[in-house]
Amino acid sequence: MIKPDAVAGGHSGAILKQIEEAGFEIVALKLTHLSDAQASQFYAIHAERPFFKTLVEFMSSGKIIAAVLKKTNAVADFRTLIGNTNPEKADAGTVRKLYAKSIEFNAIHGSDSDENAMIEAGFFFSNFERFN
Ligand code: GDP
Repeated sequence: MIKPDAVAGGHSGAILKQIEEAGFEIVALKLTHLSDAQASQFYAIHAERPFFKTLVEFMSSGKIIAAVLKKTNAVADFRTLIGNTNPEKADAGTVRKLYAKSIEFNAIHGSDSDENAMIEAGFFFSNFERFN
């Protein structure tokens, strides 16, 4: 998911280009705007964290781009491509190093496991399996 800061900053095209050039196939793609309830549901795993309220406010503050990506070793390779959660710690050339402003406004989300990737794909695309 390209987060509201990166979409509003006009970086969607550059980020999608970087994703494709890294060998990911885009199998589903959607521009949308999460409601407060949807952002809360998406990040429910962080409900007890001190930053949850501001995270939900941020994630529902503007348009996002949701994508389902396909590649061998996709989860690990995508997390390498996007870089550390904190852009100050992210490697040069990663999406977060290039476009994130802070640990919270950090431009992009990537699933952390194959299981969560399926859940998160289903969150945005009711029939995404058919796109494969
Ligand atoms: P990710 O998998 O790299 O996105 O990181 P996490 O799953 O740990 O956190 C989810 C999202 O919560 C991050 O991408 C940030 O937008 C936000 N976040 C994580 N840690 C912090 C923090 O310490 N402070 C704040 N304000 N936001 C955070």
